[in-house]
Amino acid sequence: MEQFNDLQPITFPGIDPNKPLIIAGPCSAESEEQVLNTARQLAHHGVKIFRAGIWKPRTKPGGFEGVGLKGLLWMHQVKKETGMYTATEVATHDHVKAAIEAGIDLLWIGARTAANPFAMQEIADALRGHEDVPVLVKNPVNPDLELWIGGIQRIYNAGIRKLGAIHRGFSAYGKHLFRNEPQWHIPVELHRRLPDIPIICDPSHMGGQRELISPIAQQSLDMGVDGLMIECHCEPDSAWSDKNQQLTPEQLSVILNALVVREHHVSTENLASLRQQIDRCDNELLEILAKRMRISREIGTYKKEHNMQIVQANRYDEIMERRIAQAEKIGLNPEFMKEVMQAIHEESVHLQISLFENK
Ligand code: PEP
Ligand code: MN
Repeated sequence: MEQFNDLQPITFPGIDPNKPLIIAGPCSAESEEQVLNTARQLAHHGVKIFRAGIWKPRTKPGGFEGVGLKGLLWMHQVKKETGMYTATEVATHDHVKAAIEAGIDLLWIGARTAANPFAMQEIADALRGHEDVPVLVKNPVNPDLELWIGGIQRIYNAGIRKLGAIHRGFSAYGKHLFRNEPQWHIPVELHRRLPDIPIICDPSHMGGQRELISPIAQQSLDMGVDGLMIECHCEPDSAWSDKNQQLTPEQLSVILNALVVREHHVSTENLASLRQQIDRCDNELLEILAKRMRISREIGTYKKEHNMQIVQANRYDEIMERRIAQAEKIGLNPEFMKEVMQAIHEESVHLQISLFENK
């Protein structure tokens, strides 16, 4: 069910399918002049797919909620004048119908919408009968892989075969370096579960600030993503939404030219030998862990026989402190070591609890 093996590639005449797919344009369409001015500059720098939000999901009421239908006419103008393909966000049945009717070439579903199964189903139903439209599903705002996959499945079940995902990071409470944490393990797992679904990275919403766009874009290419969606505006500082993260078309061009695209399937002898070494390390790790758990069980039996409590707080603090300091000395990330030791300790406690529960 999950294996979508009859997907079709998201390709467009005139766009090299062997290069990362680049989608760029403003967060929001604001005026005809802003849309066309940005599009002309992007076209001049070789961008072939133009994005702009026509309907904007804003956190609070009263903000700029998009220009609506008239923006579709401006997108049509972009196509006519520059030859670029156009892309916009859809969140309701009416958006889908209007965008398709206006000749929008690619639709994406935003992170807030992707978190809502009712909305995803409504969009899927509206897409039925329009199987040729390529659709990209952003990750839901919350780090829930199943919800992301479920949303993709709904669109697939409606007959869409040019289907992809956009990784735009996940929100968290409070202030952080990233506006939305990349949490790379989630798209990596998405790729493992749905290997035929292309993944586009959106460094703009991940970084939330201009300076982070280039490093995130490079990191995502290093991770093997299939394309990038980046927000660009002819005058970023006066943008009506997401102004801190928008680049000028010129800045985008500099960044794109500096990006290093890695080979997708590196399979050298060297890599094979390194993988063998990793496999050996993993085997050793497993054996050591099994040994540690056996000893932990013996300790549990001892505690039970001597009527002692399972968790001895001093001993726990001592183990954590010692191991974290040791980790730092040998170049391991202490935060990582802390998580590993906590997980191991938790499992030991579980084992000992089950001993206490037996009889
Ligand atoms: C956008 O692409 O402008 C947007 C609203 O993004 P997201 O859904 O990722 O927040
Ligand atoms: Mn935006």
